[in-house]
Amino acid sequence: MSHDTAPLTPMTMSTLLGRIEHEWSTRQKIFDLPSARIWQPDPDVDLGFEFLGRPCATPVGPAAGPHSQLAENIVLAWLGGSRLFELKTVQVLDDLEIARPCIDMQTIGYNIEWSQELTVPQSLTEYVKASMLVEMLTQWEPLADHLHNDTGDGPGSHVFDMSVGYDLAGISGDKVSRFIRGMRDATDEIAALRPQIAEAGGSFAALADLDFSTHIADTLTLSTFHGCPPEEIESITKHLIDEHDLDVIVKLNPTLLGYETVAGIVNDELGYRDVSVKEQAFADDLQFERGIELIEELNEYAKQRGRRFGIKLTNTLVVDNTRGFMPDDPMYLSGAPLHVLASTLLDRLATALPGRLAIPGHDGDVMVSFSAGITKENLPEAIAMGVNPATVCSDLLKPGGYGRLAPMLKALTAAVRDDGCSDLASWKQLRQAAAVDAGFATACAQHVADIRGDGIESYHLDGNSKLPREVDNDLQMFGCVACNFCVTVCPNDAFTNIRSLDGMDGRQQYLVFSELCNECGNCMVFCPERGDPAMIKPRLYTDRALFEARDGQGFLVDGGRVVDARADDESIELVGRLLASDAGNPLG
Ligand code: SF4
Ligand code: SF4
Repeated sequence: MSHDTAPLTPMTMSTLLGRIEHEWSTRQKIFDLPSARIWQPDPDVDLGFEFLGRPCATPVGPAAGPHSQLAENIVLAWLGGSRLFELKTVQVLDDLEIARPCIDMQTIGYNIEWSQELTVPQSLTEYVKASMLVEMLTQWEPLADHLHNDTGDGPGSHVFDMSVGYDLAGISGDKVSRFIRGMRDATDEIAALRPQIAEAGGSFAALADLDFSTHIADTLTLSTFHGCPPEEIESITKHLIDEHDLDVIVKLNPTLLGYETVAGIVNDELGYRDVSVKEQAFADDLQFERGIELIEELNEYAKQRGRRFGIKLTNTLVVDNTRGFMPDDPMYLSGAPLHVLASTLLDRLATALPGRLAIPGHDGDVMVSFSAGITKENLPEAIAMGVNPATVCSDLLKPGGYGRLAPMLKALTAAVRDDGCSDLASWKQLRQAAAVDAGFATACAQHVADIRGDGIESYHLDGNSKLPREVDNDLQMFGCVACNFCVTVCPNDAFTNIRSLDGMDGRQQYLVFSELCNECGNCMVFCPERGDPAMIKPRLYTDRALFEARDGQGFLVDGGRVVDARADDESIELVGRLLASDAGNPLG
């Protein structure tokens, strides 16, 4: 497919509001998430915590990545119960072409998708748009019963955490500085977006005058390149504190553990013998002893200026691309093995920094955020380690997608309640006391002993080598086994489904919003039929310029009708009739 235009074109506020209204009234879904997957707080268990001093109603959210780039990604994650949003990293080089496919979730999870795909100003608009949409949905009457529990508790507070990369020159330049200032005071963005609310019409028009928060974010997670020198990390953190008055989290690499430890865990203990850990990356990256000094120094620097400091565990692990599914080398490993590495690193850091980290048993002031192979099964154990929050990426790329968040929160709620607690803070202390009784220094040390001991199976190759299901059939534009995987595994909600017309094969028909598809490849990995759904299923366009700039089949849609197409007459007629059907026209 030719690409003279950006692969990702965000939908306007009015289009998104139109979609919400239409999907809710015709199928009780929002951006394809069914109402049953909307998180409702438990009346007896408070999952709230403080993120760098800011209240946050749940300790879960999307990690900076494909689930926190577009406004609808963020809304979907919020509906699922996320309350801490690590927004996708922005950087000065915002017109890079990322090779495709860029995500490989066949087994544990790899990617080459290391950079934003929107321009920096587009990212600002998307984050402000997301913040406004969340505020509107909180007030939107049709959703009220789904967001509130019987005792009236509602969605609670959330926090947007910015992420910038990757070096001081880029971060201190005009483009990124304007972005940070815009996130701190979004008055102008809100004024530009507000008219689209009335334009969308319907029940949202009544919310056009809402007093939207202009303060989108004042915390930031720093992402640096592998090999970034410690002095550079230090300078950037100080710049962000001094110039922008931000609380800052520094994302650390698993390479801090050293090559022997990492290769020993990944290749030997966990059995991933075909994973080729890049030894050179360890020599180039921050070393453990210097890392310890840096955490101490930067925490002190922030404290002296009335700011807070935290660390995030961890970045992905750089490995050789030996799989050949994605075009670039190296690639970045995530998922189950990264969970073991990040937990082990937290244990090492806690031991080397007694009383410094804000985890039970240490009770220091360096907050620890965690993102590494979080699943419904291990979320309670991760939170018991004391991390705030635990953010998710790989798991949300599996069938169920954003719909996997609410069950995760239910599992955490059940763990807290089953231990007789009613809030996270007291439960963590209880878990810490139980770990000490069992002979461990911390709940973290106990978790590490478990996942590298009796509980290793969930992280071992043997528990993570099952490939997605396949059926012996070539995928066609219309009709398929209708498993719905393409809808749920797409981080951008670029797929939607419409009930089949009489006489069509399959229960549902699947269509692609081309503007939202960045050809990441994830739906192709999970589609059981042979072929790439993103290229084979009808590709809808709303933008004529984009439609004309691309090749391959496509349907230009305006006002719910096909106004131009590159397809045979029968396909054009079928897409037109699908869009005109009762629950059709997904564009509102
Ligand atoms: S439709 Fe498929 S290829 Fe496109 S963004 Fe979604 S998952 Fe990726
Ligand atoms: S296109 Fe593939 S993934 Fe999507 S519903 Fe059909 S069979 Fe499932």
